[in-house]
Amino acid sequence: MITAHLPSGYLLGKVMRVDTRVLMFAAMVGAIFPDLDLLWFYYFDEKAFHHHRYWVHAPGFWLLFSPIIICVLAIWNRYILKVFLTFLIGIYLHIFLDTIAGGIMWLWPFSDRLYELVRVQPTHNHFVLSFIAHWTFWLEIIIWILATFLLFRSKRSSLK
Ligand SMILES: [Zn+2]
Repeated sequence: MITAHLPSGYLLGKVMRVDTRVLMFAAMVGAIFPDLDLLWFYYFDEKAFHHHRYWVHAPGFWLLFSPIIICVLAIWNRYILKVFLTFLIGIYLHIFLDTIAGGIMWLWPFSDRLYELVRVQPTHNHFVLSFIAHWTFWLEIIIWILATFLLFRSKRSSLK
């Protein structure tokens, strides 16, 4: 997925019926968080390998790491636990959406093979154009339309 992670986070917040701006923010940040690895990918590793091979895109990392955070927060602060869980669900949403056509290391740390549902063939001279021309890009368009519709609907109802 290239463009629709942020609106997918907004849709996640709506589906979860989050009741505060902080929780909506957590859902949206979680939905884009794994792609922050692109900064490392472009500026430090100089595109040496697929950015989905960084730990932020590995479900196994979050599966191993998050129980520790969850236990600490369950003892320390229940509200921050709720924020973290919303953020974590946003991360998993991101990873699921990337699985459609992007490839995710679902079996890491046992295997570093990338699994995707659909393989986008390089039909254009730039990979972004190949993704935009592929039928899976319609999912991104649908996510954008739904999120925009819900955003305007909630803005209109808040003005009444
Ligand atoms: Zn991603």
